[in-house]
Amino acid sequence: MKAISLLGSTGSIGTQTLDIVSQHPDQFRIVALAAGRNIELLAQQIRQFRPSLVAIADPDSLPELQEAIADVTPQPALLVGQEGVIEVARCPEADVVVTGIVGCAGLLPTIAAIKAGKDIALANKETLIAGGPVVLPLVQQYGVKLLPADSEHSAIFQCLQGVPDGGLRRILLTASGGAFRDFPVEQLAHVTVADALKHPNWSMGRKITIDSATLMNKGLEVIEAHYLFGADYDQIDIVIHPQSIIHSLIELQDTSVLAQLGWPDMRLPLLYALSYPERIYTDWRVLDLVKCGDLTFREPDHQKYPCMQLAYAAGRAGGCLPAVLNAANEQAVALFLEEQIRFLDIPRLIEQTCDRYQSQNRSTSTLDDILAADQWARQEVLSTSQTLATV
Ligand code: NDP
Repeated sequence: MKAISLLGSTGSIGTQTLDIVSQHPDQFRIVALAAGRNIELLAQQIRQFRPSLVAIADPDSLPELQEAIADVTPQPALLVGQEGVIEVARCPEADVVVTGIVGCAGLLPTIAAIKAGKDIALANKETLIAGGPVVLPLVQQYGVKLLPADSEHSAIFQCLQGVPDGGLRRILLTASGGAFRDFPVEQLAHVTVADALKHPNWSMGRKITIDSATLMNKGLEVIEAHYLFGADYDQIDIVIHPQSIIHSLIELQDTSVLAQLGWPDMRLPLLYALSYPERIYTDWRVLDLVKCGDLTFREPDHQKYPCMQLAYAAGRAGGCLPAVLNAANEQAVALFLEEQIRFLDIPRLIEQTCDRYQSQNRSTSTLDDILAADQWARQEVLSTSQTLATV
């Protein structure tokens, strides 16, 4: 029986993790939950899963939560703010922490979990992209497992089982192509938030759905793959695969290629991150290759989607630049979702911010440097976006 602390329980990753736990009560139990501000759903989850510790990031929502669970016995300990989320991440009862928080807000809780000796089921890719130079040494130092829950990285991780050191030659990340894969480039100037939120294959949170539409999600995944699997950037390629059946592939030294396949369902990579190295039987729909029909592939279009190359460049530069890229993207996506900027402003703002950061030539990447770079990039995007709006 594995005890799970779940960060971001009310989101897409969080609710799918809870679905797995409710289907496998003999394998998993929830000991702690953290969410942002969705009190109604969090209260339901507390009733169903009876965690001993719960945190909400938004302190103003505490009275509403207390009222919503007043009749629950025994009462969980309730905490608020980032400190509360950090306590959930290092909950003494937990064996593994699922990081389903969105954005760099997951960084400090993830570090706290590692320092408390917890294994990490990593969905929150922004944590690794911003904090890789700090997170990876801590994973080594504390001897914990960093298990990928992102579908592409789970696919690579699954394919790598049994591949000896030095056997990997290339990683091939598959990409669905996002909401605008069949739109001509000229149309991107006029797309709306509602258009960008229509993902063709996956049902996910709003931020990652926009990242999929800009293909920044794939760029972020390139950096994530570099940190998780130690591959050079020249060894990581992207291929567009509209059906999202092949979740990624690895090429070995002898040119053999291994792939992992499945329906687009995030529960599968989440389950493997939780059950690793075991395989747990599920009654989920099995893959039927005949029903899948054609599996097709094409080159990514870097003219139409500049975010991928911005991510490669930031990854290659290293240091705090991936944190700057990530924070600039988070802030630009937030502004787009608020309809403050246009879709094509997202890559423009990220590029300008990365260029300005590089011109200042900051080279170290301690945790303080990363957090400062994150704040700087958000502020930079906010001020530049105001000039954009007045143009
Ligand atoms: P959602 O927006 O659906 O959910 C985000 C969750 O984080 C919510 O529970 C939200 O709480 C909570 N949250 C937000 N801010 C804070 C905070 N400061 N402290 C604590 N909790 C907070 O996102 P997704 O589930 O889609 O994505 C989560 C992460 O997983 C992202 O990093 C994403 O890139 C990654 N991922 C997601 C995939 C997917 O299929 N969804 C696939 C692969 C990776 P509330 O709603 O209560 O405010």
